[in-house]
Amino acid sequence: GCGICIKKCPYSAISIINLPEKLSKSLVHRYGPNAFELFRLPTPKEGRSLGILGSNGVGKSTSLKILAGVLKPNLGRFESPPDWDEIIDFFKGSELQPYFEKMANGRLRVSYKPQAVDSLRKYDLRVGEALQRADERNVSRELADYLNLSSLKDRLLKQLSGGELQKVAIAAALSKDADVYLLDEPSSYLDIRERLRVANLIKEQVRPGKYVIIVEHDLAVLDYVSDLVSIIYGEPGVYGIVGIVKGVRAGINSYIQGYIREENIRFREYPIEFHERPPPVEWPSESVLVKWGTIHKSLGEFTLRVEEGRVHRGEVVGVLGPNGIGKTTFVRILAGEIEPDEGWVERVQNVRLSYKPQFLGEVKFEGTVREFLRSSEVDTSSPTIQAELMKPLRVHSLLDHYMQDLSGGELQRVLIVAALGREADIYLLDEPMAYLDVEQRYAVAKVIKRLTAEKGVSTIVVEHDIVAIDFLAMTLMVFRGIPGKQGEASSPMDMRKGMNLFLKDMSLTFRRDPDTKRPRINKPGSWMDRYQKEVLKEYYYVV
Ligand code: ADP
Ligand code: ADP
Ligand code: MG
Ligand code: MG
Repeated sequence: GCGICIKKCPYSAISIINLPEKLSKSLVHRYGPNAFELFRLPTPKEGRSLGILGSNGVGKSTSLKILAGVLKPNLGRFESPPDWDEIIDFFKGSELQPYFEKMANGRLRVSYKPQAVDSLRKYDLRVGEALQRADERNVSRELADYLNLSSLKDRLLKQLSGGELQKVAIAAALSKDADVYLLDEPSSYLDIRERLRVANLIKEQVRPGKYVIIVEHDLAVLDYVSDLVSIIYGEPGVYGIVGIVKGVRAGINSYIQGYIREENIRFREYPIEFHERPPPVEWPSESVLVKWGTIHKSLGEFTLRVEEGRVHRGEVVGVLGPNGIGKTTFVRILAGEIEPDEGWVERVQNVRLSYKPQFLGEVKFEGTVREFLRSSEVDTSSPTIQAELMKPLRVHSLLDHYMQDLSGGELQRVLIVAALGREADIYLLDEPMAYLDVEQRYAVAKVIKRLTAEKGVSTIVVEHDIVAIDFLAMTLMVFRGIPGKQGEASSPMDMRKGMNLFLKDMSLTFRRDPDTKRPRINKPGSWMDRYQKEVLKEYYYVV
């Protein structure tokens, strides 16, 4: 262990935690005997936005449900639950006391966007009707326009893609006239531009007298929307402890370092390390693994053009672009699943491909996870695969489950182990970070980096999480154009050039945090934003 701690977790990434005796007095909720326990609650502040950060299974959604009034906290007494007076007394002296007083008296109006937006599909409603019903501020049309939902208003909810449904759920939640806005993982399924628009809408709700609370795994988005941050740590599925509320920069840095100084808690043995960009690599020509000539492909109404390019041994290529712009189409062309109309793809002889598709439904396998991994040629007994992939992604406990019974998040984790755990020369990963928590995202990113460097393979990663792309990519392909109609892809270029191209389109600039080197979004119109755009002409590469 690390010396501070007394308890060994089965989850190695969050290795060991000391659970102080006095915590038992702060048990806020327990689902049942031997069930998950939540200690303390994130304390929101009026007029400020509070971001919540933590691994999957440590009680983030449980916290939001309690703050939303969907779940009444039982203070651990699931058999004889306390009444509101006791609950209010429990939170005496903190801002949660008046919060729950208002809730108990029915004077707190709450708007809540739950994590699982797929549940909206059960309503037999059209988008327009759904938005109108929710609207209490007469803003639904404006929100729909801003989020590009207007053209969908006659579609049934059950016909929508994940991203479209997410935007409807967010627009509905933000159109309520509430005192509290709670958003559980709002950026899932969204591309970067959509994430930022949603973030801007959430920021608009941060006003005197209002509470805004967000759970989010995309660190750039969380950083951008939050004024304050609270970390929840613990043993996933067993217990979660809510850390103190800090300012956003200190809170996220503390998460990256794996250490909460004020509480002397180390919840990860190592920090996540970002590096300033090394200079672009000159790749020797004999290291090319795959190359292509200018590619054209039409699919229905959609046409894609990809500039000629090549990928080398030891190269991690990040792929950025909005939804519906042809990223998956390109990856499928590289994987040999579809043929280009014009152009060619040339792979070195006997090259082995490993491909994780974006849509999990494409994987049909009857049998257990163990059998699936075996059939994917993953050696589940290898200590490296166990330590680097199976443990951080918590797949070891799923081995005897049937593939058909897995949830979306579980299936994603199994598919990542299958894709990265087998021997190949080229790894193609289409949106691998969806459904993963921050901890898992960086575990996956680390494996990708190590595998690519040590084994001299190539990896191509399509991903909307720009902090994760910054962490792992060496070169970038940028997809631009008109989503659903026309896509234009660049060849892989160095990060600085690629990010400048990509961010300029979005009129967005990034700076680096001086302590952790993580990228942070500059507030649009701020001094730094204008300086980078107008003087430096650097959207990205600034320390
Ligand atoms: P997070 O949002 O951080 O991923 P959740 O708050 O959803 O975590 O869940 C924390 C833990 O509580 C999980 O282990 C989950 O299985 C468990 N849990 C959630 N809801 C219930 C419930 N209704 N009954 C029993 N256990 C639950
Ligand atoms: P991305 O991965 O960038 O989100 P895709 O490559 O999946 O984009 O899709 C690009 C566009 O091509 C989308 O508008 C999609 O609807 C369309 N498309 C994809 N496959 C087909 C197909 N088989 N037939 C018709 N249109 C398709
Ligand atoms: Mg959750
Ligand atoms: Mg795609």
